[in-house]
Amino acid sequence: MSEKEPKYARRRFIGTGAAALAAFPVAVMLGVSSRAARAANLPHLQESDPQAKALQYSDDAAKSKRTSSDQFCHNCLNFEGKAGDAWGPCKIFPGKDVNHNGWCAAWVKKPG
Ligand code: SF4
Repeated sequence: MSEKEPKYARRRFIGTGAAALAAFPVAVMLGVSSRAARAANLPHLQESDPQAKALQYSDDAAKSKRTSSDQFCHNCLNFEGKAGDAWGPCKIFPGKDVNHNGWCAAWVKKPG
């Protein structure tokens, strides 16, 4: 073993670390854009999903067990879809889109 090996190993480690550091912003940007893409087109929540059943989710609020006719996913605090989107993410069902005209028992009025 020569005396130079630890020095080269340290240089290699620093070089690898610098490359990883340089790649980090790109990875973050790719991660953000892929998350945005996923958020815009998630699989639709199925009424047969066990969590959806537990919360009495329905794609059609008019056919749901809601307590008031003005309750919809689109005016729920947990709905994260954009206005006008037919489907959008919901904080209660991560990884799934819910119907903007749907409803579930976790409905909370969106302020405003
Ligand atoms: Fe719809 Fe709100 Fe239930 Fe999510 S929490 S499914 S947005 S009613």
